Amino acid sequence: MKRLEPEVEQILEQFVINNDKLSEITQKIKAEIKLGLATQNGSSVAMLPSYVPALPDGSETGKYVAIDLSGKNLRIMLLTLKGPDTEPSAVNNNYIVPNHVMKGTGDQLFTFIVNRLQRFLQEFNLLEANIPIGFVFSYPCELLSIRSARLLWWTKGFDIKDCLKKDVVQLLEEALEMNMSTKATIKAVMNDTVGQLAAAAYKYGSECTVAVVIGYGCNSSYLEKTSNITKFDAKALGYQHEKMVVVTEWEEFGSKGELDDVLTQFDREIDVASVHKGKQIIDKLTGALYLGELVRRILSQLVLDRLLFEGQPCEKLEEVDTFPTKHISEILAEEEGCFKTCRRLCDDLDVPMHGSSDYVIIREVCDAVSRRSASIVAAAISALIDHLELDTVKIGVGGALIQFHPTYHEMLKQKLIELAPPQIQWELVPADEGSARGAALIAAVAEKLDL
Ligand code: BGC
Repeated sequence: MKRLEPEVEQILEQFVINNDKLSEITQKIKAEIKLGLATQNGSSVAMLPSYVPALPDGSETGKYVAIDLSGKNLRIMLLTLKGPDTEPSAVNNNYIVPNHVMKGTGDQLFTFIVNRLQRFLQEFNLLEANIPIGFVFSYPCELLSIRSARLLWWTKGFDIKDCLKKDVVQLLEEALEMNMSTKATIKAVMNDTVGQLAAAAYKYGSECTVAVVIGYGCNSSYLEKTSNITKFDAKALGYQHEKMVVVTEWEEFGSKGELDDVLTQFDREIDVASVHKGKQIIDKLTGALYLGELVRRILSQLVLDRLLFEGQPCEKLEEVDTFPTKHISEILAEEEGCFKTCRRLCDDLDVPMHGSSDYVIIREVCDAVSRRSASIVAAAISALIDHLELDTVKIGVGGALIQFHPTYHEMLKQKLIELAPPQIQWELVPADEGSARGAALIAAVAEKLDL
């Protein structure tokens, strides 16, 4: 590999977080996890009860539908479960939530979802079937039961004010009643990490009790002893199960300033330009909604410093969001020394002059930003599995960065080898089918347990 200019190295070094610092982050997250289990509002890691008492074990049968709203993507899936040792079959449709709906009204959002559901059920002749639905709503919610979720705040660029503090299941049911005649019922509502955990446990067995989503945002959930959730008064709330899945919402770690000393000038710019300033710092350092934009801002600074494209201005690079995270995956997927994609992207960006030394820099920027994301996620996973005090654990990992980024899984694994407590035997297992499949599975569990 060609050597980079020292000035470029200097910028990229800001994205390296050494292991001592990462271990410090791990310890702080672990302390917030403990605090979050004990208090309602005192912790930057909210530790939200999900009311899901058990994960699927393979015995489930029947047809279930999932509605999965994870970021801009809405996925609707029909899952047919055929019992032990038989692969389930799944069909699904994906839709993009338009920008004006992401920042519009609750009515617009839920009518959008219901219209898509109606067409989907019609396509499979299920409008009249009494089909149970699992609903993934991947934003922080306070759950009041497995069928009731009060939206606490929006993340990932959504900002629909009239939904705040409202029960999203009720909003969905009202839209269902208004817009279509169907016998379908919402059986369970959950965070995307819970869906993913269910899908991973179904595939990898009962040792899989932790799930991490590294998609637009980054979050995790895991199976906890109910008695450890001391802020949750199980008796008063009539919850009689020994265990419960807890959603960490660790993306808010950093809101007390815990990550201030690792933030670069570029991270601060992204934060200032975001819908929720000062919040979801982990999402902003790790998630696919932000990584491409981070690369764009670094490249644009390098042009300004005359370290890239011979300092020739590149107008497109000045525009927000012109470098989506999928470009990072495409660039890093190429063999080292081969720059076909980089060349094409530079042409698309109308860069007047570019050559192999520019491509090397672009590639290194993509690598540095991805590597830092994986380091922070490894520090957070390390905190969670340390908290669990298990001998063996399988961690179901999924989301866009796991699914499409060519080196992310490996970088995460390597960092975790360096950071995780040595006494724990852990394994990262890819849960690519993700949250939709898991939501349908949780609907099946809810039906089986008569929740
Ligand atoms: C949301 C979480 C979600 C995560 C991954 C975050 O922005 O707040 O609830 O699980 O993204 O999708």
